[in-house]
Amino acid sequence: MAVPFVEDWDLVQTLGEGAYGEVQLAVNRRTEEAVAVKIVDMKRAADCPENIRKEICINKMLNHENVVKFYGHRREGATQYLFLEYCSGGELFDRIEPDVGMPEAEAQRFFQQLIAGVVYLHGIGITHRDIKPENLLLDERDTLKISDFGLATVFRHNGRERRLNKMCGTLPYVAPELLRRAEFRAEPVDVWACGIVLTAMLAGELPWDQPSDECQEYSDWKERKTYLPPWKKIDSAPLALLRKLLAESPGARIAVADIGKDRWYSRPAGRGVKRPPAAPRPDSPGGSRSPLSQDRTRCSTSQPEPGTGAPLGDGGPRHEPARAISFSQPARPEHMLLNSQLLGTPGSSQSPWQRLVKRMTRFFTKLDADCSYRALQEVCEKMGYGWKKSCTNQVTISTTDRRNNKLIFKVNLVEMESKILVDFRLSKGDGLEFKRHFLKIKGKLSDIVSTQKVWLPPS
Ligand code: ATP
Repeated sequence: MAVPFVEDWDLVQTLGEGAYGEVQLAVNRRTEEAVAVKIVDMKRAADCPENIRKEICINKMLNHENVVKFYGHRREGATQYLFLEYCSGGELFDRIEPDVGMPEAEAQRFFQQLIAGVVYLHGIGITHRDIKPENLLLDERDTLKISDFGLATVFRHNGRERRLNKMCGTLPYVAPELLRRAEFRAEPVDVWACGIVLTAMLAGELPWDQPSDECQEYSDWKERKTYLPPWKKIDSAPLALLRKLLAESPGARIAVADIGKDRWYSRPAGRGVKRPPAAPRPDSPGGSRSPLSQDRTRCSTSQPEPGTGAPLGDGGPRHEPARAISFSQPARPEHMLLNSQLLGTPGSSQSPWQRLVKRMTRFFTKLDADCSYRALQEVCEKMGYGWKKSCTNQVTISTTDRRNNKLIFKVNLVEMESKILVDFRLSKGDGLEFKRHFLKIKGKLSDIVSTQKVWLPPS
């Protein structure tokens, strides 16, 4: 449906943070349409204003089921707004159980969608250059969407391919040639990153810090020591595909167009694909599925038609509902999400609960706000984490992960129907490591974590 973009959009929830700003969920008051708004502070991005222009330019070229849709952009003073398809299913890394992975059938489905997106991108001459589970988002139907074209570039134009020379990406996901050669081809680098994503999905861990000979785990892989983790956790059929994806020489590496011919990749779902017994989802009350995944088909979030322009009026975005979440003024989810006018709007098919981004890294407590806060603080301090109150209901926790990289995450304590929701969101660092730390903290708080099901009131 075409919507006149007027001053009816509220920024209602922080979805994530990036190097130059944050991503917010914007909901239209009248139509309830939801979009993700990437807000880039051009002053913070002053060193590379070209990058954001390039990100916009590339986004405009994209149109595929497995790529986040771009609706438009708008600049107001030093702030640039990018309007994107809202992916309410959260990030792929959130579906990966640390050290375990996910059921093979699920990994196969996500991998097929990832490859479909990459085949499309390469087909129009674009390389993403930073494929990793944090940049792979899921919509309300769990369809994978490639996101964040901040590092993407054109490698083929008018049929002529150019080689790349810029080192970019994230070390555990970069291909070996990028660390060794002055110039390299674009496509095999993305293919390699897809192989690392598949490994993370099937084993719940990254195979190495970086693919260099100084790295023991990488040498072990080259020597085919697949009796070692993470490989020993992976079945022989997907492992055979991983050998082709993670072939050291880019020339010997499987071409993205040939992945479709792989035996495991093309195996019909369910046939011979290992399905381990369903592991309890980490966050959900009672260890059941994610509260927001209980009725996936119902959680459809309407999206505006592409090409209808930027969903903001001249007044720019408003940051209202976020203020409504405070312990002095207990918030109901509808306050958190929408201006109350919308409640009961005829045809409003979605309960506000279903609007919240699906996240596994959250739990309810049995205590009130103050006690929950204190319990969390005590555990974090005992575990040696840095603890900083960021605002009334939010703390920033910092630590280093097992690879000695900085890991920062934010915890929001939100009161919902007289229960306290403790919601963790990664701010900086590796997604899998973040999940590991979340599970550790949750384990230490097990006596206060509520197992009662409190989600999804009837819509
Ligand atoms: P980085 O510094 O990691 O490159 P960035 O500034 O490019 O980050 P993004 O990676 O685009 O920002 O977004 C940051 C986070 O915001 C994502 O990891 C995701 O959690 C959330 N996010 C981004 N886009 C969307 C979207 N379309 N729908 C839902 N959540 C989103």
